[in-house]
Amino acid sequence: MKVLKFGGTSVGSAERMESVAKLVNHPGHKIVVLSAMSGTTDQLVKIAEAFLEQLPEKAFPLIKELETKYKATIDKLFKSKEYKKKGEEVLAEHFELLRSFKPNVFTRKEERIILAEGELLSTTLFHYYLEEQEIPAVLFPALSFMRINEDGEPDHDYIEEHLKKELEKYPHAELFITQGYICRNSFGQVDNLKRGGSDYTASLIGAVLDAEEIQIWTDIDGMHNSDPRYVPDTFPIAKLSFDEASELAYFGAKILHPSCIRPAQKRNVPVRLLNTMQPDAPGTLISQDASDDDIKAVAAKDNITVIKIKSTQMLMAYGFMRSVFEVFERYKTPIDMVATSEVSISLTIDDTTHLEDIMKELKKYGTVSVDMDQIIICVVGDFLAHKPGCAFRIFETLKEIPITMISYGGSKINISVIINGIYKKAALMALSKGLFPKVKATANK
Ligand code: ADP
Ligand code: ASP
Ligand code: MG
Repeated sequence: MKVLKFGGTSVGSAERMESVAKLVNHPGHKIVVLSAMSGTTDQLVKIAEAFLEQLPEKAFPLIKELETKYKATIDKLFKSKEYKKKGEEVLAEHFELLRSFKPNVFTRKEERIILAEGELLSTTLFHYYLEEQEIPAVLFPALSFMRINEDGEPDHDYIEEHLKKELEKYPHAELFITQGYICRNSFGQVDNLKRGGSDYTASLIGAVLDAEEIQIWTDIDGMHNSDPRYVPDTFPIAKLSFDEASELAYFGAKILHPSCIRPAQKRNVPVRLLNTMQPDAPGTLISQDASDDDIKAVAAKDNITVIKIKSTQMLMAYGFMRSVFEVFERYKTPIDMVATSEVSISLTIDDTTHLEDIMKELKKYGTVSVDMDQIIICVVGDFLAHKPGCAFRIFETLKEIPITMISYGGSKINISVIINGIYKKAALMALSKGLFPKVKATANK
């Protein structure tokens, strides 16, 4: 059994959906996970924000705009009158729901219901399209098995039990379709796996079912050596280890949801990144095999906040670090990077939901300062300590960029630096030029 996830661009128009249908219409047991059509979730976010701001006059035109786009899509997608009508009924039902919200009773709970609409729409329309094309497939609801616990983490046992139960209902089916991104939380309410979460859905499904492979089909031919939105002439990496891919995803390579490699890695299910527009391109294979030793890729994570705590005591008292870390634990705020000196700690977070409370508590232990708008630049590769020169190569290329913090030695595959966000493009360009000229020449052959 394989799990195939198609992202927003891959299902972003009638033509793209038709291509996806061709890609999945082969013998073999498959679970197809779909994202919302591109642009939909962004628009749903805006609609929900307008309701939260109690501005229905802003929400309704946004709903109308989205509906117009979907009307054009179904008109192209379905060929027969019968299925055009079915498509219209689907739109009527979902857009009626969007229009039914009342700003005065609109909370984050209602917002999450709105955000789930994109994946519900794309899967229902795609399933009808397969039906019209006489391609047998079962549409099953992610909301019946995908669940997060009270900490917002996937509840693996629940997912495994309920997913298997759902699949057992169709012992003869080969092709299954379900929604990425959406789930229920511990209260049973509609929730989601955060932006880009369809990758995570695919990985969670692939892991609990011990799939043969998880394929992430997107709009680019694999994990590139740097962010193609900032750097020209990037190229795909043929093979990555789970750890390398995981670091790149966590530190900002948008092609993968930050947490989506771990479930696959835990059950040793290979993940392949493929391009819907170029289905024959080899893409990137992510597996437990170690890949060639060298510097592989660079990623950047935005919106990082650096917090510095300078102990009020002359020397770091025993237990100071523990007290500091416990504050972050209490507020369930993950720390990404840490640097220490004799009397101070600098650390970074990206979730600032509880920043004020954290600051208040940290002030008990010393003087606290905060720098917002920083970024982490993370270089991933094989940096074994016995191989001299890696750090030199990286820092030489960054010699023009002011560096706020450095992390080296935490793992043998990652060297990270913190810089101000204004230097993002300059740093990525410099690293690309400095680290990959030789590989680039080979890759382009
Ligand atoms: P999907 O909608 O299919 O999930 P995403 O937009 O989430 O697609 O991810 C694909 C995009 O990720 C690419 O179009 C590319 O711009 C961006 N990206 C950022 N960093 C990388 C990288 N290192 N390698 C490949 N793509 C990257
Ligand atoms: N539709 C969701 C988003 O835009 C999930 C995803 O695309 O993976 O974030
Ligand atoms: Mg994505």
